[in-house]
Amino acid sequence: MRDYYEILGVERTATAEEIKRAYRKLALKYHPDRNPDDPTAEERFKEAAEAYEVLSNPEKRQRYDRFGHAGVRGNGNAGPGFQDINDIFSAFSDIFGGGSIFEEVFGGGRARGRGPRPRGRPGSDLRIKLPLTYEEIAEGVEKKIKVRKYVVCEACAGTGAEGREQGYVVCPTCGGTGEIRHVTRSVFGQFVNVQPCPACQGEGRVVRHRCAACGGEGRRKGEETITINVPPGVLEGHYLTLRGAGNAGVRGGPAGDLRVEIEELPHEHFTREGLDIYYELYLSFPDAVLGTEVEVPTLKGRARLQIDPGVQSGKILRMRERGLPELHGGRVGDQMVRIHVWTPTSLTDEERQLLEQLRHSPSFAPQPERQERRSFFSKFKDVFT
Ligand SMILES: [Zn+2]
Ligand SMILES: [Zn+2]
Repeated sequence: MRDYYEILGVERTATAEEIKRAYRKLALKYHPDRNPDDPTAEERFKEAAEAYEVLSNPEKRQRYDRFGHAGVRGNGNAGPGFQDINDIFSAFSDIFGGGSIFEEVFGGGRARGRGPRPRGRPGSDLRIKLPLTYEEIAEGVEKKIKVRKYVVCEACAGTGAEGREQGYVVCPTCGGTGEIRHVTRSVFGQFVNVQPCPACQGEGRVVRHRCAACGGEGRRKGEETITINVPPGVLEGHYLTLRGAGNAGVRGGPAGDLRVEIEELPHEHFTREGLDIYYELYLSFPDAVLGTEVEVPTLKGRARLQIDPGVQSGKILRMRERGLPELHGGRVGDQMVRIHVWTPTSLTDEERQLLEQLRHSPSFAPQPERQERRSFFSKFKDVFT
């Protein structure tokens, strides 16, 4: 990746004003409207925007100066990452906004005027939570979910007009330009203020007869079933953006995005620590003393587990690779089985008598020193199932 100062052609000591000027110059030179058939111009344009995005922000610039590109990278994302050229226009509205340098240079043409004017207002983005069990996270899962949202009206194919495209007439307020222009003269020269036409919301046309099914919106409340493929190893807070799966736009406007956020459901048996899952196993006092075999749940069915005689409370048995996988392969966590020796709280007379007999028996006297010395090396014990 090229150095941001080099991209803008400024010294590392450049002032904010110098950086802004250098960027304006490059943005004009490489603007896609001026270089319609030159893909490298668009690359340069994006590159300059990225450099400006960082260097125009004092905090980001400081981080960049200290740590380079790594300092301004998000969580694993490469750079601020402008994927879509329209993001650049919206990120720097102070430079590209109304009455901007593009007005002067392109004789009043709109800076964003690439392709046809947008037909209708875009639909808004949606967010949904996707609750998953640990079993689903371990294996990965295909989920079908119903999303309540605005969908395109079939009756008018999203146009909002009875008779579809023929149902429109040119907006009488703006004469079809979609804009209202105000020209002001002052000692500094002539200023042109361009605003979207309020009568047609910038569309340049109005509906002659509204579609009865949607009232002229071109969309209606509805529901869509969406299939989501969740890979194994996702974490709470991970999300996935489905482009164009949000609310339908008004009268043919682009649809918003759908953001699907992963949520971990609490599990009846397990708690999670990183990739490991913990299971709390309660043993009766005789089982702990004499040893036993138990059945424990795992994420893939039940498993039998051998308990050695004399196991202590707090001991953790490790079942290798029975935990959760890392996203995109690699390590798999373990299932930890933590032993608790259960102390009975009510006894029959017979039980009480038996225990009274054992109370002063030398083997029952606690010897924590001996235990601690051993458990230092063996708090965890691997078990094979
Ligand atoms: Zn309709
Ligand atoms: Zn209009």
